[in-house]
Amino acid sequence: MNPPLELTVMMYHYVRAPGDVAEGGTGIPGLPVREFDAQLDELSGRHTFVTWPQVRAALQDEQPLPPSACLLTFDDGVRDHYLNVFRILRDRNLSGLFFIMDRHESKGLVLGHKIHFLLAKVGVHRLREVIWVGLNSEERQRFIEAESKYKLKYAPVSVGGQIDLLKYVLQRDMSTLAEPLLGELFELYIGCQDRIAQDYYLTTEQIHEMSAGGMYFGGHSRSHPWFDWIDAGAREAEIRASAACLREIEPGPWAFAYPYGGLSDDSPGLLNKHGFAAAFTTRPQVRHSDPYFIGRLDGEELSQIGDRYA
Ligand SMILES: [Zn+2]
Repeated sequence: MNPPLELTVMMYHYVRAPGDVAEGGTGIPGLPVREFDAQLDELSGRHTFVTWPQVRAALQDEQPLPPSACLLTFDDGVRDHYLNVFRILRDRNLSGLFFIMDRHESKGLVLGHKIHFLLAKVGVHRLREVIWVGLNSEERQRFIEAESKYKLKYAPVSVGGQIDLLKYVLQRDMSTLAEPLLGELFELYIGCQDRIAQDYYLTTEQIHEMSAGGMYFGGHSRSHPWFDWIDAGAREAEIRASAACLREIEPGPWAFAYPYGGLSDDSPGLLNKHGFAAAFTTRPQVRHSDPYFIGRLDGEELSQIGDRYA
């Protein structure tokens, strides 16, 4: 890209208020709805909001964006985006780009979301304890080794640091094991995963209503893995599943958001091959030199409430 693209891209996950339908008694926090509304007020004073097709045209046909352009993006396809975000954006005559996971194969929750439920229910100390009890001696050894590796990155002195450390271990080194183990813990502490997942993610009907209401959709993989942790074959399968899912919603080329912001050098080629024109990271940048590594600013971090649940 020459010259670099100047674009502020906001990234949001949960947008909810304690006790509202989106939060649903889970205790999982998110960006408060009022805070989101206030951020939009503030952003609209400094920026001109643009849509995904405008950004795509800037990337593909070098159609210039307005000065101080801002794109709103939302990750994970959670129900918050229909219940809270869509209503607010529609009232303001704004558009959003929503990165959804392909839900064709799994009816349950992705690993990251199982962890959110369990953390909210039992807390980080107890969760680590009950996971530990479920491991054999060889698995405990691997767990300890993974922890000591990430301890250098996430000094576990604060609760937030402990949560990040546990998430890293479970979502990367122990992910194969964590899937069934956390599935069992979920049934034990929370309830029927398939039923809860039905109320957790956007339904096909909601996606089509949002699409008809001026919203756009992008890919966010099928199972939400770290892309730098899985192999090239698995990455391609995740990207292909996203393309198949989006084909039923809107014409491409589409946008993609890397799960957890995990990067790998071969992703741009794979994304291009399967019909994606751009991909978004979690790097906090507003000037972008590569359409497959477009940085984003985290709305929760801006609101100073922390980013424990991204
Ligand atoms: Zn995600």
